[in-house]
Amino acid sequence: MIIYKSDDEIKLMKRAGELVCNVLLKLESLIKPGISTEFLDKIAEKMIIEHNAKPAFKGYLGRISKIPFPGTICASINEEVVHGIPGKRILKDGDLISIDVGVQLDGFFGDAARSFPVGNVNEKVQKIIKTTRDALNAAIGKCVEGNRLGDISSTIEQLALRNGYSVVKDFVGHGIGRNMHEDPQVLNYGPAHQGPLLKKGIVLAIEPMLNEGKSEVEVLNDNWTVVTSDRKLSCHFEDTVAITSNGSIILTRIN
Ligand code: MG
Repeated sequence: MIIYKSDDEIKLMKRAGELVCNVLLKLESLIKPGISTEFLDKIAEKMIIEHNAKPAFKGYLGRISKIPFPGTICASINEEVVHGIPGKRILKDGDLISIDVGVQLDGFFGDAARSFPVGNVNEKVQKIIKTTRDALNAAIGKCVEGNRLGDISSTIEQLALRNGYSVVKDFVGHGIGRNMHEDPQVLNYGPAHQGPLLKKGIVLAIEPMLNEGKSEVEVLNDNWTVVTSDRKLSCHFEDTVAITSNGSIILTRIN
């Protein structure tokens, strides 16, 4: 069941979203070869707590293993798609890192991810980052009343395919509000003009995951880290977006 948010609730969600955005901007400023993902995780956790919010992913129970997620951020490098556990791993020149941040503030969740180049990256990394960001922005462009959920999904898939990428099908975007994951699921594939009508008050976390190779993914033995089955590159961007009668508001960006 889709939960529609009031204008006041969307205002509260904007505060959660802006904190997510600020954490991501801070982490972006720190990313360079030689630092660990654990270092980024500590900075994010401190910043979230200082703002009287809670890290939303920490302690989250996995749908498969029921093992609580140990970090504040998800840090997924190269062939890792999503849900990478922050740890001792050191970022290397040429890596692609996706960082996903979720917070709960005043009862509402915000959720966003960005992918960043580490040091000097090759053209393959540059192109998949650009295309995934473009896919997210194009999908957000479909977040207007009267469109259907399938217009978002189809836009992501078509842009990916046009650029020679596949999309991940096993993990999807979601509604978000007082719960981190609400209805509807936001697929990164499927036909346009289908699914629920987009209406004022719907808030979605839209999260394209594009793969350089095949679409298939698997979960590593740590029970969390999702990797491409062919171990080729993957890239992930996400924003929390509210649909209003006046177009959409990207809650996890600062205007
Ligand atoms: Mg999400």
